[in-house]
Amino acid sequence: NYRARSAFKLLELDRKYNFIKPGSVFIDCGAAPGGWSQVISRKVLPEFDITTEGIKDFETKLNGNLIIAVDSLPIEPIPGVNVIQGDFTDISTQQKVKELLKEREVDVILSDMAPNFSGQHFIDHVKSMELCESSLNFAERVLKSGGTFLCKFLMGESDLEFRNNLKTKFDSVRHEKPQAVRKKSSEGYFMCLGYKKK
Ligand code: SAM
Repeated sequence: NYRARSAFKLLELDRKYNFIKPGSVFIDCGAAPGGWSQVISRKVLPEFDITTEGIKDFETKLNGNLIIAVDSLPIEPIPGVNVIQGDFTDISTQQKVKELLKEREVDVILSDMAPNFSGQHFIDHVKSMELCESSLNFAERVLKSGGTFLCKFLMGESDLEFRNNLKTKFDSVRHEKPQAVRKKSSEGYFMCLGYKKK
């Protein structure tokens, strides 16, 4: 059982691309209530049974895994997951993430961030693309060469432009719509593999 149905989308994408690997650094943007972080935690830290509180003393038990979950909403503790509450588009929130990284490069950046829906598709699309841009900008600063980037977007006029931008930065960029996404929904994911670090 997972806190959110969206967990099944991540499980599906990981079955296809196998990018959640033990010993990695993960950043989960827009993580509340925590379904995706649960998927990562259970896969890379199946034995881990303490919460973020004890993280310093238990670093050896983390086996090189570092999982950081960010959301403006609170997230109940998840084994081995560091939670940061804040708006990811704020520099101060990104700074907190960087502090936790302690100079480590990131293997996987995920963004399931979605705007509060206004009901007007164009506005929601534009806000969604802004969230994509924000996570990509951050990814470009911390992702390791060969790293993975996955982000949700609401389809609309400017997603092609964003996709073309991604294609200049990653070896492979796929538009994915997992089965677990409702048929009518206009959301999609860009699954980007092989970051070409400059
Ligand atoms: N992947 C999550 C899971 O499995 O539990 C579900 C994520 S939910 C679809 C989208 C989340 O994005 C919401 O919790 C929302 O608060 C968050 N969000 C939207 N904009 C954000 C922002 N600027 N900064 C941080 N979180 C944001």
